[in-house]
Amino acid sequence: MAKSALVGVDLGGTKIYTAVADLRGRIISEVIVPTGAERGPAAVIDEIVRSVDDALCAAGIGRRALKAVGAGAPGPVVFARGLIADPPNLPRWCNVPLGAILEERLGTTVLVDNDANLAGLAEVRFGAAKGFRDVVYVTVSTGIGGGIIFGGEVFRGADGAAGEVGHMTVLPGGPRCNCGNRGCLEAVASGTAFRRLHGYTTKDAAERIARGGVSGRKARRDIDELAEWLGLGLANLANILNPQVIVVGGGLSNLGPILFVPLRKAVKKYGFSIAGRRVKVLRAKLGKRVGVMGAIALALE
Ligand SMILES: [Zn+2]
Repeated sequence: MAKSALVGVDLGGTKIYTAVADLRGRIISEVIVPTGAERGPAAVIDEIVRSVDDALCAAGIGRRALKAVGAGAPGPVVFARGLIADPPNLPRWCNVPLGAILEERLGTTVLVDNDANLAGLAEVRFGAAKGFRDVVYVTVSTGIGGGIIFGGEVFRGADGAAGEVGHMTVLPGGPRCNCGNRGCLEAVASGTAFRRLHGYTTKDAAERIARGGVSGRKARRDIDELAEWLGLGLANLANILNPQVIVVGGGLSNLGPILFVPLRKAVKKYGFSIAGRRVKVLRAKLGKRVGVMGAIALALE
């Protein structure tokens, strides 16, 4: 049995996913509970503390063996202060110093970062981009988020707000985005955008393509169009940052080759020079565990 342990907490709008890991990042036990976000921050924080204790208990490890806790939360997060600013899917969380509160309750070091940064870190440490140092992670589901990992470290920017790749403008005057602007990448290339534009989901699209026929061909064109927009966004990232790898995760990455074949083509088309030609576009590997693995990777540091 491990003598020392780390804990990762993935705080989501609907679930809290907590895992105990050894000092090499291998998961020993895990606990998943509903967030109950509507009850507000105090109740959610009680739930996190209970989850950590339950996961430690399941692993047969006492709190004293706990070396550090990493926590991922929906952005924006002020990393240096462990502060959760005002996430859209955690109502009434306005400037909650989650890091400091958990440190006091758990009696150990607690680091808090935004979930997309940590998902990127997880894919670099344990997943699709293992062994690469300069990586951009992009998650495409109902929205589009991202994390930039450079030199093997999360690049957070001056205010900890770097990596919001979903809000680069790709179509001036285009569809309205959740953020209030128009024509953001998220407004044309997310699952929500697909549904709004075409009246069916990307999951339906995959089924229609598998069935073939007229509706299958139409679905393929619709996915190709989304891939073109997404590829334009990824090519911009490649041109500016020159990453070795762009990892694409989130629900839409489950489309597999249906998405990745036209996506890679579009990245080549819009990519400039060496950076655009050389970047690899890979599918994320860690699935539902990506958040908690990222939190563990943060605790490891
Ligand atoms: Zn936006």
